Amino acid sequence: MITDTAVTASIRMEALLSAHTLVLNRHWMAVGFTQARRAISLVYEDVAKVIAPDTFALYDFATWADLSRHAPTQDCIRSVRVVFRIPEIIILTTYSGMPRANVAFSRRNLCIRDRYTCQFCGEKLSSENLTIDHILPRSRGGHATWENCVLACVRCNERKGDRKPEEVGMRLLKQPRRPRWAPSFGIPLRHRKESWEKFISDVYWDIELES
Ligand SMILES: [Zn+2]
Repeated sequence: MITDTAVTASIRMEALLSAHTLVLNRHWMAVGFTQARRAISLVYEDVAKVIAPDTFALYDFATWADLSRHAPTQDCIRSVRVVFRIPEIIILTTYSGMPRANVAFSRRNLCIRDRYTCQFCGEKLSSENLTIDHILPRSRGGHATWENCVLACVRCNERKGDRKPEEVGMRLLKQPRRPRWAPSFGIPLRHRKESWEKFISDVYWDIELES
């Protein structure tokens, strides 16, 4: 007979197994997400290791199961024999490939790249209070590209006008570049885990771009 508790437990288990796990290549670079159930089987097959979200120490299936048993958390799946914390991050032990994501040039993605911050004065604003500034103005042949566009507040944009930054003594906070990665990998913000920030932001913001 199936009881209500059993049903609730199986719904909960399903939710846990469907959660997102961040996947890193062997160089500790984020390559995407997978469902927790797939992450667990990769760890079980010894193709990947679990990265502890607090210490970033590496665990194989047996040692992670040990830790899960001794320090169980809310997000543990349990079978008769095994207690296993849903991994937030796994690292592939041999894979060194990189995803070839091309981030669309859009206002929204520009806001994400520039972190809703005027790239001249550093003021953080909401999207509707930011303009897109063409570093080399359009009137002088500047194109709408990742390398030629930055966010600017209205004041800075007006001050710069149809000139290049250096002509009016303005400086960019940083050289704008084409992002190689979708900033959030399409994961809704509410599902994001603190432990991911290190890898996603590092990878997204600091990676040397291929030319
Ligand atoms: Zn500004």
